[in-house]
Parts: sequence; structure tokens; C-alpha cells
Amino acid sequence: METKDLYKTLGVSKEASQEEIRRSYRKLARKHHPDANRDDPKAEERFKEIQHAYEILSNPEKRREYDVGPRTFFGAQGAGRGGPGGASPGDYSDLSDLFGGLGDIFGRSTRTREASLKGEDVTVAVNLGFKDALEGVTTRVSVPVEEACGDCRGTGAAPGTAPRTCPQCGGRGVRSRDQGFFAFSEPCAACAGEGTIVDKPCPTCAGSGRLRKSRQVTVRIPAGAKNGMKIRVPGRGSGGRRGGPAGDLYVVTRVAEHPVFKRRGDDFVVEVPVSFAEAALGAEIQVPRPEGGTVKLRLPAGTQDGKQFRVRGAGAPKARKRGGERGDLMVQTRLVVPRKLRRREREILEALAEERNEDVREELFKKVGSS
Ligand SMILES: [Zn+2]
Ligand SMILES: [Zn+2]
Repeated sequence: METKDLYKTLGVSKEASQEEIRRSYRKLARKHHPDANRDDPKAEERFKEIQHAYEILSNPEKRREYDVGPRTFFGAQGAGRGGPGGASPGDYSDLSDLFGGLGDIFGRSTRTREASLKGEDVTVAVNLGFKDALEGVTTRVSVPVEEACGDCRGTGAAPGTAPRTCPQCGGRGVRSRDQGFFAFSEPCAACAGEGTIVDKPCPTCAGSGRLRKSRQVTVRIPAGAKNGMKIRVPGRGSGGRRGGPAGDLYVVTRVAEHPVFKRRGDDFVVEVPVSFAEAALGAEIQVPRPEGGTVKLRLPAGTQDGKQFRVRGAGAPKARKRGGERGDLMVQTRLVVPRKLRRREREILEALAEERNEDVREELFKKVGSS
């Protein structure tokens, strides 16, 4: 027979107050919880000892009995929940927050079951033309959702019957393993965590209580929507379970590419052909805008090929902002070289070449030579 001192097990003195005992127990329970000591096979044993000590010392009446004649209690060790000398779970209601705390520490949450009552979020893609995305559009999307079966109101039981409380878990949907009434809960196998058992399944939903259907949802696509933008429509996902809230709908935009305007953030980039004369002399040119029409752009004399100019406010409306804020239009020049020359054109260019008499590769070779 064991002769371990329950006070020592909890690390408190014989004079410890109930509060001290409780505090010490909580501390030790966290430290020695088997989930936190997966590599230590003895952790569970230690944990049981701590639990057992607390079972007795936390109950003033049992503590008194222990102080008088502790041996009577050792027989109860390992008897577990509801066994002789064991406390009923009700005695530990003051520790309910500890269970939650352990859940958080060990990466499982006692709220999992509640969270699962919320309907699933559903994501659908919507294909948009370039113009619709730019200007914004109201569109209808077909959303595959799961909803409570109307015939059984989501219970899964045939009309006229009702699900009964699971006798294995008493309707809790979870069962505790042998280690006592601690955080060792797992979904009840008898009812698959539902807490209820259906004897006669609803023929419409085959007992699942859920039906798949396609729902038409109207979605407002904001002006300036980018490709891959995610728009959240709250509460339009799958329906919740047992009165839980519906999930959300996410609409992901797929915007058709434009042959000329390339999107870059809230800006658009457009490549604009420029003649040699315009580039060399400078010019005022018209540049197309993404939503139609043109915008004037002044090219300075000596503009190079591939040079970028920013036309402020001529880009896409910023879809995430109100107030008509817009991105810019980036104009990139592309120097156009005549493919064919008439005689007079050739003569003029030859005269120009003779006049300039330059070596445009001089810099290049200087760099090559100096490295
Ligand atoms: Zn049904
Ligand atoms: Zn059950």
C-alpha cells in the first residue's frame, strides 16, 4: 500500500488554505499534464497522483478524514470517476476555467464543438470582363451551399420522429477517457459527436440533416476590382447547424486580360509607339485611357525608347477605397523605326547621319575596355 503524503504530492504544507491547495494543484496539473509531456511515460502516473491528492484535499470533509486516518483513502486511488471515495464531477465545477485554460495551452479548445455549429465558408470564382471589373458591376453567382434539410429541420430524423439523447455521452457529444474528468475528452463514437442518435433517418437527407443546394447570390463587384480580389459576403455561405450562424461567402474575381492595358496594383501600364521625330523633337501625343477616351501627354525633346511617364489619376479606381481615388496610368514609350523609306526620306536621314557624324557605341566600348 502506498504511503505517499498527499500534501507533499501537491507541494503544500498541512496548514495550507483551500486557496493555496487549489492554486498549487492548478500549477502542477498544467506542468504534469500528459499532453504536455508526451515523451514522458511517467507523466500520466504523476498526473493521476496529483489529481487524486487534490480530489481529497480540496474537499474539506475528506481532508479532515485524511488528516485523521489517511490510509482509508489510498484504496480509492485509481478508482477514478464515480468510484468509491472519488468525487463527483460536480465538486470540480470551480475548475471549469482550468479546463478551458488547459485546452488553450495544449492546442485544443473546448469551444471546438460550438465553433463547428457555424456553417462552412464557401468560396466561388466570378469571371469578369475587363470593362466590368474597371467600372464595377452587380452580378449573380451560383453558390454551392449546404443547408438544413427542410423536411426534418436539420435533425436528420424522419418526419414525425425525433432524435434521442445519446446514452453513451448523455448528449454532450464528447466522452472522457479513463484519466478522470480532465481534459481528456474526445468525440463520442456512438453519436459521432452529435450528442443525439437518430433511429429512423429522414429519407430526404438520409439522416444527415443537411442538403446540398445551389443558391443564387447577388454580389456587388466594386469599380476597379483586380484579378484575384476576394470579396466577403457575410452570412451567405452554408447554413449553420443547430441554430448556429451561417458561414460566409467569398467571391474571388477572375478578370479578363486586356490586350493593351496591363494592371499593376491600382495602376495600368500601356505601351505607346512613338516616332523617331516625336521622340527627338518632343511632341504632345494622345494616349488611350483604360475606360475609353484619351489623355494628353507631353513628350520632352530627346525622349528615349522604353521611357515611362506617369499620368496621375488615369489608372483604375481604388476598389478598396471610397471617394473616387484612382491609380495612375503608366505610359511606356516604344520607338518605332520606319520599315521602308522613300527616296527623299532616305536622303534626309543620310544627311542627318552625315551631319551628326557620331559613334553611338563609343560609351559602350569605353566601359568594356575599362573593366
Ligand atoms: Zn432531412
Ligand atoms: Zn454520444
